[in-house]
Amino acid sequence: MKSFTKELWFETKRPKEFINITSTVEELLKESGIKEGFVLVNAMHITASVFINDDESGLHHDFDKWLEKMAPHDPVNQYHHNTYETNADAHIKRQIMGREVVVAITEGKLHFGPWEQIFYGEFDGCRRKRVLVKIIGE
Ligand code: ZN
Repeated sequence: MKSFTKELWFETKRPKEFINITSTVEELLKESGIKEGFVLVNAMHITASVFINDDESGLHHDFDKWLEKMAPHDPVNQYHHNTYETNADAHIKRQIMGREVVVAITEGKLHFGPWEQIFYGEFDGCRRKRVLVKIIGE
């Protein structure tokens, strides 16, 4: 069994962003040489997510609106977590959108369903953060 590990770094310009990382994961899969197996992609920070969905700007806007309804950033004093920092909403958003995805690899390609793409979801940005990519198989 082969194994391939890489950490990707992000530093978003805005506090909240969705970034399509599908082509990066595809490049790493090619580099790994693995044809059959699995790839795990996970956010390494508790205020960021990795998830799979459609690459459609309207949908991303809808996600953002929905997340702000579920866990509004303001007023910051509504959260017990917000003492020396004010990112309680980002922790909750990460919990909703998830930590990681696993994608099957078949014949050297990510075995997606229709329209599936991998995204990094940032909820407390403007600082350096990492995503782990781990590929195992043959
Ligand atoms: Zn925090």
